[in-house]
Amino acid sequence: MLDQTCFYATAGGQPNDVGTLGEWRVLDVREEDKTGILIHTVDGPLTGEVSGEIDWDRRLDHMEQHTGQHLLSGAFEQLLDAETVSWHLGSESCTVDLGIEALTTEQVALIEFECNRVIRACLPVITHRVDLAGAAALPLRKPPTVREHIRVVEISGYDWSACAGTHVRSTGEMGLLKIKSWEKNKKATRVVFLVGRRALNDYMRLDSTTRDLGRALSIGVHDLPRYVERSQEETSGLRKQVKVLQERILEIEAGELVAGARRLAGARIVRLVSGGRSLEELKLLAAKVAGHPGTIAVFGTRGAMPQIVLQRSVDLRLDIGAVVKQVLPLIDGRGGGSPVQAQGGGSRPEALEHALDQAIHKIAEALK
Ligand SMILES: [Zn+2]
Repeated sequence: MLDQTCFYATAGGQPNDVGTLGEWRVLDVREEDKTGILIHTVDGPLTGEVSGEIDWDRRLDHMEQHTGQHLLSGAFEQLLDAETVSWHLGSESCTVDLGIEALTTEQVALIEFECNRVIRACLPVITHRVDLAGAAALPLRKPPTVREHIRVVEISGYDWSACAGTHVRSTGEMGLLKIKSWEKNKKATRVVFLVGRRALNDYMRLDSTTRDLGRALSIGVHDLPRYVERSQEETSGLRKQVKVLQERILEIEAGELVAGARRLAGARIVRLVSGGRSLEELKLLAAKVAGHPGTIAVFGTRGAMPQIVLQRSVDLRLDIGAVVKQVLPLIDGRGGGSPVQAQGGGSRPEALEHALDQAIHKIAEALK
């Protein structure tokens, strides 16, 4: 506790200052239960007279964001009759919650133009100390929460708000205010915004990103949306085309596999072990193979987690699901399916070939 301090304690939506007191770092500053006593948390013991220094970059940033919030809330109230219910000063961005349920892109642009007009007008930001009667005489946007020693922060002739936070001296010091996004939040609308150096940094980052993208694609940055739209259409068209072609290729492959199939108890058995194919593709191929009458596909995938896929043509009388259930334990596997198609995966790749052989053995027995 100090007899006087330059440190701001967390209050009214604004986070505390940090900095140094003597040789120690100030980690936190808080008011003790509304007593007016400020507790400075330092990382070492202190006695006697000490001098303190606040982290000015952080303070200046908070001043920019906080004054920006007054301006933004004032503009929303004056132009859209939208009251600010609450606000938050975050380490990356700030938010205001407005008591309206919707906000259009045009309204957001209107507010941004208005705020930046006031910023360029360099209106002084003035502090008044008034009593309750004095406060009542001012057109306060935000009423005081205390009954005496009321501090009113005025953006000269534009907005009056009871506030004990820190602010810039002129709106011009903020430089820039940008709304980043907004969304419905219960019965309110939450608006995310950046002020001052945060807004400038964000603009520089966005500019560099879009410029890099434009350069990589050899187009102007403003052509990016149309490029993305066209690319998406093209990709979706290609995807459909690939699917059609893949089906055709699998049909051809299935035909070849069936032609070279081994005959067993009156049926044709197509045995295939694949290393690089997806399970999805293998299942498609099995279906194509089983599309040929009197045919059974006995497929497996290699890899740490081997898979077995069995499918028969509908003209055969045989419970494929039962066969799969019998051989899956060989690969420590689990799965199942219908009498026509079944599959399962396991964890013993070294036993895959044996499991497929056993499946063929069971099929031969069942077909007898
Ligand atoms: Zn304030």
